[in-house]
Amino acid sequence: MNPDQTPQSPKPLPWYKDGLRFKCTECGKCCTGSPGNVWVSEQEMSSISKLLNISIELFKRKYVRQRNNRFALIEKKSQNNDCIFLKDNKCLIYQARPKQCRTFPWWRENLNSEDSWKSAAEDCEGINDKAPLVPLNEIEQMLQINDINLQ
Ligand code: SF4
Ligand code: SF4
Repeated sequence: MNPDQTPQSPKPLPWYKDGLRFKCTECGKCCTGSPGNVWVSEQEMSSISKLLNISIELFKRKYVRQRNNRFALIEKKSQNNDCIFLKDNKCLIYQARPKQCRTFPWWRENLNSEDSWKSAAEDCEGINDKAPLVPLNEIEQMLQINDINLQ
């Protein structure tokens, strides 16, 4: 080895290195409540409009609002900020739901610390001790998908 080169120390493993327990119960709670943005890409809007059998133009008129150059699903302000696609606690576009929904609760803000994970569990019943263990590699995959999605 070149004496000027110092060996790179391996990246420390995160606090959730042994995996975390989660299975979505499809309760719909993460689709309502506090206001927020569920971002949708052009590709996602195209997939959802195909599922709904409508044109992408009509989809944009009916279901999204524009924020600068991005689109987010409309929320029903008068109904506890329900996502426009939430009906009877179920997602009407489940097969084509956006990546942001697919990757929940594997968001960095929820995985920052054990406390933030516990706090996510207060709102998401799928995070519980009886749920199946999701291994570290799957968690990291989800985090990466979400990082790319938010760029
Ligand atoms: S709150 Fe959790 S369990 Fe309920 S639908 Fe959302 S991810 Fe699934
Ligand atoms: S698209 Fe579906 S999963 Fe995503 S927030 Fe709306 S109702 Fe929930």
